[in-house]
Amino acid sequence: VTAATAHTAGRMHSRASATVGMVGGGQLARMTYQAALTLGVDLRILAAESDDAVAEPGLAPQAGSPTDLETLRSLARSCDVLTFDHELVPTKHLEVLQREGCVLRPGPKALRVAQDKLHARVLMSRAGFPVPEFKAALSVGELVERADAWGWPIVVKERLGGYDGGGIAIVERDELLGFAAGPGWFAEQQVEIERELSQLIARSPSGEVVAYPLTESVQVDGICVETSTPAPVSPELTAKCRELALSLAETIDAVGVMALELFLTRDGALLVNEIALRPHNTGHYTIEACETSQFENHLRAVLDWPLGSTAMKAPAAVMANVLGSGDANPADALQAALRVPGAHPHLYGKQPRNHRKLGHVTALGPSLEQARETSRRSADILTGGSR
Ligand code: ADP
Repeated sequence: VTAATAHTAGRMHSRASATVGMVGGGQLARMTYQAALTLGVDLRILAAESDDAVAEPGLAPQAGSPTDLETLRSLARSCDVLTFDHELVPTKHLEVLQREGCVLRPGPKALRVAQDKLHARVLMSRAGFPVPEFKAALSVGELVERADAWGWPIVVKERLGGYDGGGIAIVERDELLGFAAGPGWFAEQQVEIERELSQLIARSPSGEVVAYPLTESVQVDGICVETSTPAPVSPELTAKCRELALSLAETIDAVGVMALELFLTRDGALLVNEIALRPHNTGHYTIEACETSQFENHLRAVLDWPLGSTAMKAPAAVMANVLGSGDANPADALQAALRVPGAHPHLYGKQPRNHRKLGHVTALGPSLEQARETSRRSADILTGGSR
């Protein structure tokens, strides 16, 4: 059976507007599913055992490994488009599927930029995008020499698989010698961060692009705890972030939602930190605050459908993440959290665990201060008042 005939057969009796496969069953897939229902899209989610955010009877995820070629092939062939809720998919498999005629959005070349932090640094610096000073951690001797010039401590990062502060360490000179530097790691200068910013865009294969308002994120121990939109920075800086994201999206041929994470340094420089090619934590606020959510625009973009407006419906929006605190279950506190006027709590149905993202609360308001007050009050109730 060729990819094309399998693909037609899979859709023959479907009344869906389109069939999209999504690799990964975390909260991003869960919220994409909500948008898929609205658009009449049949979203088929491939979830690994640990992906419990889609473990609801109604979502009927397919169980399987995102690293198994045959599993990916059978999902891709049953869908119009295959897309991703995380980056942990071997690009070599995706290259095979692409050659076989499956439609992958984003494609493997772009995905590699989101997967491999060192590859992203190299590609971006070659293309002239501002990034922190970095060095492949080939030998500790070479690294010490370079880091002496940067100043200590330095940041050591895992190339693949790091998220929410895992796979990154701040290292002093005497610690580096005991550090297992190798090809899976690289090092970079520790930047003095004034603010962390996130620019979301959605881009379709035919080149249509929309940009969301600039967002500021607050990170604690590498985990995003809060976002504020619009980011309280100058119009010039806002425009610069937008230009950077649009130009980077073209350079890497991003398709779907792309989140560009940026550092604004103490001395006013903008540096690119990371790129995500999927809906992003810093875009959760768009569900209530924008004309079109990031999840809906991701689907519209990967299907090459017209994109929706990103305009905000209120002057300000703040999202507070609900992070796990021991085994306390935020679902137990939901009714109290719902009593906060103007708060929009979301729960992901995940097993509680320390620091795990279990939900979030968005609030709109006339100012960031008021929206922050509302979202925090409700999120604090959900986390058991531990924040
Ligand atoms: P993750 O993949 O876990 O999100 P990041 O590379 O984004 O990892 O790093 C997580 C956080 O660590 C960032 O949001 C930032 O607060 C901090 N960080 C990362 N790189 C640097 C750096 N070069 N200098 C200073 N802080 C950094």
